[in-house]
Amino acid sequence: MLQDNYTQDLPIFKGVTVKYFRESEDNNSYEAFIEMPVKEHHCPHCGYTTTYIKDYRLQKVKDLSLAGKPLKVTISKRRYICKNCNSTFTENNPYIKRYCHFPQRFYFEAIKETFNLQSFSAIARRFGTSVTSIIRWFDNINYPKAELPSCIAIDEFKGNADGEKFQCNLSDPVKHKIIDILPNRDSEDLCKYFLDYPYEKRAKVKKVVMDLSTLFRSVAKKIFPEAKIIADKFHVIRIVTNSLENTRKRIQKEFHDAKRKWFKRSRRLLLKPEYKLTDEDKIELNRMLNSSPELEKAWLLKEKFYEIFRKETRTEAKRELRDWLLLANQLSVPEFQHCITTFTNWSTEIANIVGENVSNGFIEGSNNKIKVLKRISFGFQNFRRSRNRILSLI
Ligand SMILES: [Zn+2]
Repeated sequence: MLQDNYTQDLPIFKGVTVKYFRESEDNNSYEAFIEMPVKEHHCPHCGYTTTYIKDYRLQKVKDLSLAGKPLKVTISKRRYICKNCNSTFTENNPYIKRYCHFPQRFYFEAIKETFNLQSFSAIARRFGTSVTSIIRWFDNINYPKAELPSCIAIDEFKGNADGEKFQCNLSDPVKHKIIDILPNRDSEDLCKYFLDYPYEKRAKVKKVVMDLSTLFRSVAKKIFPEAKIIADKFHVIRIVTNSLENTRKRIQKEFHDAKRKWFKRSRRLLLKPEYKLTDEDKIELNRMLNSSPELEKAWLLKEKFYEIFRKETRTEAKRELRDWLLLANQLSVPEFQHCITTFTNWSTEIANIVGENVSNGFIEGSNNKIKVLKRISFGFQNFRRSRNRILSLI
């Protein structure tokens, strides 16, 4: 058994009197008995002071484990009676709040755990309490709408929360922070969400990064009067490399087995930027391209596309993109038709990439984390709760 004068200084029992603190007889847990010193109390009903004690009640609670052993605490709770209005009330206790089943620090620790990537049931198991309790405590968290940064990135993810298939992830791509999670990707709802911010706040947003979504673009144009809309570079490049890949797949279909396998095996050479190719790579790639003029055209279009991002200014980039579109039209590889249509429509936003160092890299990474969270949570049913979890986590 520990000395009384030592246990009174334990931070968990600050402000209370510890009658005993010891190991249980079976050595499997710790036991403590605490009470409050008698003192004058103000009646919560009428405000009169009283020192009249009505009775005592014992409450047994579970605290966090100490050195791997459960800590069971018995609290002697005094009830006072007010001589003025005759009502009875329980004394205040800094260790445990009125009507609570667990000490304050138990709640805090459990809620802190929800900020890590794990399921509510895993936390409940570790704290020896029910999943519903953990969720109830967690639901007390409420994140207000954050300030809009000068640069924002927006993207969607499949959350299936509250019957809406898609939710939106609104992030700060510079500070690498999620700003908010929005319940759907409905144009009207998105506008309503942003219009909540006064004009001056919205005018401070100077850049909006997005993949090529016409929905997000039309919302951004309406809502952020001063913002430059920037296409996500990786997304744009992926459209081109996918077209190249699809061309390869179509062409190799007509090849005999061995040649098809060789093509499939060497596909990374097609995708690798030319300046990164070794001499050996070049020989192998030339063999591939020589066997199909169509593939050679597709490869050339991919390489020429990189040129756009090597330009110094947006005007030069826009000119380079226009030349590229002319070339793509001329070469008319069917798989690139989609690029021609899309990039014609997005030429300004693609040219805007030049000179900017922002992308959707962070938002895509956070969407992957959200996917993991959704999996371990067995889906997001409740939007408010999943928003809280995402904002706590990332
Ligand atoms: Zn009273």
